[in-house]
Amino acid sequence: MTSSSIPKGVAVLGSTGSIGTTALRVLDRQRSRFRVTALTANSNAALLKEQAHRFAPAFVGMVETGVEAGESWRSGTEALIEAATRSDVDIVINAVVGVAGLEATLAALEGGKRVALANKETLVIAGDLVKKATQNGHGELVPIDSEHSAILQCIAGHPRGEVRRVILTASGGPFRGWSAERLAGVSVADALRHPTWSMGRKNTIDSATLANKALEVIEAHVLFDLPYDRIEVVVHPQSVVHSFVEFIDGSVIAQMSVPTMELPVLYALTHPERVADSGVPPFDPVKLSPLTYEPVDHASFPALRLGIGAGKAGGAAPAVFNAANECAVAAFLAGKIGFHDIPRGISSALDRLSGMKSQTREQLLEADRAARCHVSEMFKC
Ligand code: NAD
Ligand code: MG
Repeated sequence: MTSSSIPKGVAVLGSTGSIGTTALRVLDRQRSRFRVTALTANSNAALLKEQAHRFAPAFVGMVETGVEAGESWRSGTEALIEAATRSDVDIVINAVVGVAGLEATLAALEGGKRVALANKETLVIAGDLVKKATQNGHGELVPIDSEHSAILQCIAGHPRGEVRRVILTASGGPFRGWSAERLAGVSVADALRHPTWSMGRKNTIDSATLANKALEVIEAHVLFDLPYDRIEVVVHPQSVVHSFVEFIDGSVIAQMSVPTMELPVLYALTHPERVADSGVPPFDPVKLSPLTYEPVDHASFPALRLGIGAGKAGGAAPAVFNAANECAVAAFLAGKIGFHDIPRGISSALDRLSGMKSQTREQLLEADRAARCHVSEMFKC
């Protein structure tokens, strides 16, 4: 792509969130290459209005009805699908949080778009359906998640048979090094204080429980067709190495940068090309040193093993894991349950519901609903 070619149309779903606003910062810098043709958000009308004014997209959608919206705005959940399938949209940035992003990803891929995907939950719930939609519609899926962007960049040009193992890095979150006993009493405010990344509330809690890393292991399995015994996790508190890929000869390639989501967002837009004007500061290995690594403490953070177990079990289990987690995190954020109740709720839902049917989109969404009901009933919330 050169700056003289026609700018590609980009839809940003979830434009008011952490990734959405990051994406708009990136797109603002890249106006010669990309133009924002569609924006959607859930409920923050004031910010969406400001964004619409700044980027003048042809389509603006506000999912929540009853919110005071702009005159020509579309509303309701269909707004996401409409934005994702418009003819003036070449690339869909899906930065919606949770299961709400699933239908738009599938519709965009079926419509032959490139989906720059932050909404990892989509892949966890319905990895096979996403792959089928990509094939059927000749769409293209490029991850925004920094670990998966790193793997994509490390693997580039190498036949898949040469990859022995991938190692995802995890910051360890705000409670790295804490014992299970100490974790029992943590508050919502403690859990929202992430040491290296500034993210939406749900994702921040997922980082504190390591459920986020479980979602990412499943995401890596789906994206790179790797069996679970070739996907590992190491704690790396500085968040400078975004993942390692080990090749069959023992050589390891890592991708590094200062911790910023701007780079993986930009790369998802330009892949496989790179552009010079990324705005990312020069890499200074001395300033960023030392880089350290630790094993995961599974006793304090059981959500990681629960998620990997769900991934290995396959079928409805990953969807149940994701929905139980979403529901438990919402209850934790609302002050209704404790930190340890999150993995407790997930484990119970998995025990009960992993065997549900999982062939179709409707069956997976049914498993999703059942898991939410199970967790709500368990905690009476
Ligand atoms: P966020 O909560 O900051 O933003 C979520 C966005 O989605 C908002 O614009 C919101 O309006 C919209 N939204 C929420 N519920 C919706 C619904 N029901 N229907 C339609 N839109 C809805 O979240 P975030 O941190 O930006 O994360 C977004 C996604 O990106 C998540 O899947 C997360 O796991 C993933 N991700 C985030 C980061 C990060 O650094 N924040 C990094 C990697 C991946
Ligand atoms: Mg990540």
